[in-house]
Amino acid sequence: MTDAIDSTDQPTPRRKPKPEVEKLAGREMKPSTLMMGHGYDPALSEGSLKAPIFLTSTFAFENAAAGKRHFEGITGQRPGGAEGLVYSRFNGPNQEILEDRLGIWDGAEDALCFSSGMTAICILMLAYVSQGDVIVHSGPLYAASEGFVAKVLSKFGVSYVDFPAGASREQLDDVLARAKSQAEENGGKVAMIYLESPGNPTNALVDVEAVKAARDAALDPAETPIAIDNTFLGPLWQRPLDNGADIVCYSLTKYVGGHSDLVAGSVSGAKKWMDPVRALRNTMGGIADPNTAWMLLRSLETVELRMQRAGENAAKVCEFLKSHPKVEGLGYLGFIADERQQDIYDRHCSGAGSTFSLFIEGGEAECFRFLDSLKVAKLAVSLGGTETLASHPASMTHLSVAHGRRQELGIGDNLVRISIGIEDPDDLIADFEQALEAV
Ligand SMILES: *Cc1c(COP(=O)(O)O)cnc(C)c1O
Repeated sequence: MTDAIDSTDQPTPRRKPKPEVEKLAGREMKPSTLMMGHGYDPALSEGSLKAPIFLTSTFAFENAAAGKRHFEGITGQRPGGAEGLVYSRFNGPNQEILEDRLGIWDGAEDALCFSSGMTAICILMLAYVSQGDVIVHSGPLYAASEGFVAKVLSKFGVSYVDFPAGASREQLDDVLARAKSQAEENGGKVAMIYLESPGNPTNALVDVEAVKAARDAALDPAETPIAIDNTFLGPLWQRPLDNGADIVCYSLTKYVGGHSDLVAGSVSGAKKWMDPVRALRNTMGGIADPNTAWMLLRSLETVELRMQRAGENAAKVCEFLKSHPKVEGLGYLGFIADERQQDIYDRHCSGAGSTFSLFIEGGEAECFRFLDSLKVAKLAVSLGGTETLASHPASMTHLSVAHGRRQELGIGDNLVRISIGIEDPDDLIADFEQALEAV
């Protein structure tokens, strides 16, 4: 019998080593610069300035020992993940370049891309929970995220404790104590603290710094990660890892994709937090396809420009709406009325975003008349695209949320959610003005 081949003796064939963030004259370059080339070397692809789309289901190994070595990485027998490309359910060149660039925006060591925001969120949660565990989450959450915890994970013996966005340190201490005893009773642990800030569609902010302090006091920080859905303000206006979160997730369908022409998601954070998520993605699938990854590389080149313009437009539109007689109020982060919410905003956010709630005098009928009268803004759910969108959460995105719960979360029948795009701001104001006339 011959000895097994020791794959460590073999050279490591790699597409390209994981790139360092390039420095220029000793200074780290900014994300907007790095989006044009980071992690891609044209010399490896016939000089093609843009990365080609790699449509293949599998990758040829240089030799058998290299194949063994890569599978040791895929199966977790060798720490640090796969060192080369193996099979397109695990990784691919377009997805790896995308992941390298996504990580830059949040200051994350590692990132993973998925076929949708919900795939990212579901695989993230599944990677961390076992039977008996408790998930602590802020409310409101995106309806499908809330449903996944309450209706799907509950089937596997995972329970939850939720708290309102804006909860104080004292309230958070209470919530974690309750979650801990619930977990003990069920023979599990507090597996994850899952946040969404600002919340959808009310824009209520969570104090991530207070959540971290409460977690560190009550639980083992190495066992219970804090994850946050940063879809509404990221990657430009909020960097939750800087405020104490461990994991950031996104629906890339929104601002990052930004053109309302793709569906994708991501999760980023330190490598040790990403490893279990990557392993489950390897098993289940759910990685973004090469074409979508390529589209996202295109989108990342303009994400800062688009978000800046949308943010400026939203400020102008909200200034107009604020004093309109048919407007009862605005849930816009540029005009926060609550002192506690303003304090959270000042510590966590660098911009007010372009998605907000408009409360119209009246109810569903008045909102529907407003929506049906819009000419520039489109009547559609979703947000963060180049075009302005408007929708009615109570009868659309949050229809599945029980009426009582909707009231509790402030999602009334007179709420219209608006996502401002990059059109001319005066045209948008004229459109809202004529639609309000029709109410
Ligand atoms: C859209 C959205 C999701 C879900 O993302 P998909 O890409 O549609 O699966 C999750 N969280 C928030 C805050 C969202 O807006």
